[in-house]
Amino acid sequence: MQGKIAIEEHFAYERPDREAAERLRRAEAWVETARRLVDIHELRLRDMDELGIEYAILSLTAPAVQSILDVKEAIAAARKYNDFLAGEVAKRPDRFGGFAALPMQDPDAAAEELSRCVKELGFPGALVNGFTQREVPDSTIYYDIPEYRPFWACVEELGVPFYLHPRTAVRERAQAYEGHPWLYSSAWGFAVETSIHVLRLIGSCLFDEYPKLQLVIGHLGERIPYDMWRLDHRIETIPTDYPAKKPISAYMRSNVHITTSGNFSDSALQCAIAEMGVDRIMFAVDYPMEVMAGGTSWFDQTELLSDQDRIKVGRNNAIELFKLGDIF
Ligand code: ZN
Repeated sequence: MQGKIAIEEHFAYERPDREAAERLRRAEAWVETARRLVDIHELRLRDMDELGIEYAILSLTAPAVQSILDVKEAIAAARKYNDFLAGEVAKRPDRFGGFAALPMQDPDAAAEELSRCVKELGFPGALVNGFTQREVPDSTIYYDIPEYRPFWACVEELGVPFYLHPRTAVRERAQAYEGHPWLYSSAWGFAVETSIHVLRLIGSCLFDEYPKLQLVIGHLGERIPYDMWRLDHRIETIPTDYPAKKPISAYMRSNVHITTSGNFSDSALQCAIAEMGVDRIMFAVDYPMEVMAGGTSWFDQTELLSDQDRIKVGRNNAIELFKLGDIF
């Protein structure tokens, strides 16, 4: 399919650090990935041209700002990264958009930076890499706590989606993975981290308070669609303290969108379509963590999508959600 829009596509401001290198344990693969992370206008654009991706919304690779312990430093870094990204987007506004990186260490500063990015830099939303650390290395702050309510009010008021992207669990807090380093990151831990975060947001009544908020999550829903019936069923069956007004599935179908990033599986897509519907699924690759052609060849050929639905998922859903009508 020509004219695809891809929305979980990463870049790095500078060559990525050791933490990121450790995540990708195979050295040769890492060298190539690192090269492609710092490239925007050459290798990336060439692949996009070849593979029918017309437009990509770029975001900083994880964990980025979320792992900066010093609050002031995090605020300054987010501003610097966002200004850099705006400069790169301005070189090819017909091919690239940008997601704001946010200093979630300080919810007021995060709201202020998001407003600046939307109103002054023209960004169509934010992408945040999971929980935030603050001041101490083993801190893990999730955004369901009351401190973040004014931030969410601001996101709703701005009317832009918030992409919650995974990050690797903090080792001191991930004892279940001990002795199995391969479990920490993208093979398993990413989905665990992100799905729990989404469920925490739902369970904190966030969407009852801010019903217009729209979240985006990747990897065909970080396994939530597969378990949606069971979540609803068990919450209804056993006495729990689940305080939100509606079942989990209701919020997933009114406040959450999912993307195909890094999960090029017909079985997973079939489940996602059945549980979420094609209106809430968007195309993404997760480049350069994934080879771009891997995502596009699967998406272009999967028989689960009619021609009409392929255009919806591959392009039109993103145009609508991110209000890209001025570009296309
Ligand atoms: Zn990603």
